[in-house]
Amino acid sequence: MCHQVDNVPTIRYFTLLDFKKFLRKLEGKPFQSYQELCNSDVRYDSFSLHFIHIQGSPGAVPASVVQLTVTSKYISLPEWTASSPARKIATKDFILRTFNETTKCHARQNRGVDGSGSFQPLIIPQQVLSRNIVRLSPEAFSISFRISLPASRSNTILGCEAVMMLSVELPTIVEATKKKLLDHSKLRSFCETVEDMLFLQKELAAKKLVAFIGDNSLLARESGISDRPAQNNVVPFKAPQELAVSLELPNGGKIRGLGVRTGVTVLIGGGFHGKSTLLNTIARGIYPHIPGDGRERTISDKNSVVICSEEGRSVRDVDISGFISTLPDSSDAKKFNTQNASGSTSEAASIIENICAGAQLLLIDEDCSATNFLIRDRYMRKLIPDDPIIPLLDRVRELYEKNNISTLLIASGSSDYIGVADQVIAMRNYKPVCMDNQSKVLDIPRYHYVHEPLTIKDNRRVLEDNFDPSYENRRLQKTVPVRIKPLRGQEKNILEFGKDLLDLTKLSALIDSDQLSTIGYALFFARKKIIGKMRLSPSELATIVIDTIEKEGLDSLQIENAYPLFFSQIRTIELAGAMNRLRSLNIYRDTE
Ligand code: ADP
Ligand code: MG
Repeated sequence: MCHQVDNVPTIRYFTLLDFKKFLRKLEGKPFQSYQELCNSDVRYDSFSLHFIHIQGSPGAVPASVVQLTVTSKYISLPEWTASSPARKIATKDFILRTFNETTKCHARQNRGVDGSGSFQPLIIPQQVLSRNIVRLSPEAFSISFRISLPASRSNTILGCEAVMMLSVELPTIVEATKKKLLDHSKLRSFCETVEDMLFLQKELAAKKLVAFIGDNSLLARESGISDRPAQNNVVPFKAPQELAVSLELPNGGKIRGLGVRTGVTVLIGGGFHGKSTLLNTIARGIYPHIPGDGRERTISDKNSVVICSEEGRSVRDVDISGFISTLPDSSDAKKFNTQNASGSTSEAASIIENICAGAQLLLIDEDCSATNFLIRDRYMRKLIPDDPIIPLLDRVRELYEKNNISTLLIASGSSDYIGVADQVIAMRNYKPVCMDNQSKVLDIPRYHYVHEPLTIKDNRRVLEDNFDPSYENRRLQKTVPVRIKPLRGQEKNILEFGKDLLDLTKLSALIDSDQLSTIGYALFFARKKIIGKMRLSPSELATIVIDTIEKEGLDSLQIENAYPLFFSQIRTIELAGAMNRLRSLNIYRDTE
């Protein structure tokens, strides 16, 4: 692997002709000879390619990293692409998607052994995130991407295949990308859509809203494992008059849709009528969506978070006494500590942790919650008067009235929540219906108990010795100084972090595997640069790291003398969520 250490690296420049000759000469040589390419720069007719990192073996993960640069002489983007921060994020995302699509279209993959001889396009989600791999300036744009250099079974270089990839396919991909970028109307609508939704997100609070779903949005997804739009028979969303709001967008003019108000919103409806789909839309609405997704006119409070039960997770010293008054082993619910939480205790801890991390809207689906955490009916309260669980039903108004935390909850199995709701929405045949009046007609009582006030305060402090990314590889009998990588071959969001296997599957706002790596390196950054100096709670620590990223860019997480990593935008909520789930989290409590 080539890393640039200390001294300034010298760049080796190639013309395309020389580059082809060079690759042909490598034919049949040991794979390691590709290292000679490291830090070289190839000048094509209308772009250049820089080799940043060369993989050590054909199947290596990550593969080689290259950076493509196209100067404005060859493609000039209109000025409006850079006229606001939102447009810049959108333009970069658009360029990346376009490059990705044309790569998939024009590249022949797997030319060599172990999947080598492939371009490795990213899997990009339906949402627009800021990333470090696309750079944009008035002079040029550049994209970093991964490529696996071709090798034979005997681990030797397939130089002629490399020539095909880099001197025939790559220019075709770049030309096709440039051609697509010349269609300014598509780029403009992309930029305007993203800008409109980010604008609306900032407006929500002033309008006392936590989410907005525009009329004619198409919320249904392709399948339970795909976030892409469903293709057939999708019922368009339409807000009923009582729930409708009309808002003015900077580009799109007036827009009508459902405004979910601050406070307690209860979502009811028959099975399979679209309740979870609506809640998931609101959960994903923390980020703007791409045009054509169906949800491009939906947006939510940027601090919305899904709360669900997560049996088996680790909880470190969290004060869950507001929800669980006593624990059977007489341990202190004010410092709840376990490596194996139950449904209700995990959910209680998650609410407290998320509120500390800045959550403003809690999204709860009864399908993914512990029932005894959500409700206890009046007869059950009489039968088991000493149940230590204080159900969310008893706290949900207090959360809003005292802490300004809104909740949107799917509760179709019990009417109890209707009594404490500000807004009741039923989903009927995939369409929302306002049920505020019906609940009054039925005269559903406000049925909840009053308890000691809930205190939400995190006096846990992260100790200096935390977030150690090193890993002892017993088989190789050596210590790997940094092991931070998403677990391979997994649908789930699991991060190998040092000795820990950090399961972040329940953090539903993680939509991209680069976010997982970003979390890992953000933890390492916290260890190296921040923890020692201050006595901070996990949320305070996460806030400082995210503030630094916002000010100095995602590349502030890069490690010196290592190949550049691909990062994408994350929130304080997920970073704090990762800290709180680390089984090795090392904390102490400040005096009360
Ligand atoms: P619920 O939570 O009410 O049981 P879901 O949200 O899980 O229902 O939706 C049930 C099914 O209907 C899912 O397969 C979902 O993809 C589909 N669906 C959701 N919204 C729509 C829609 N607007 N048009 C068509 N199908 C939809
Ligand atoms: Mg459901």
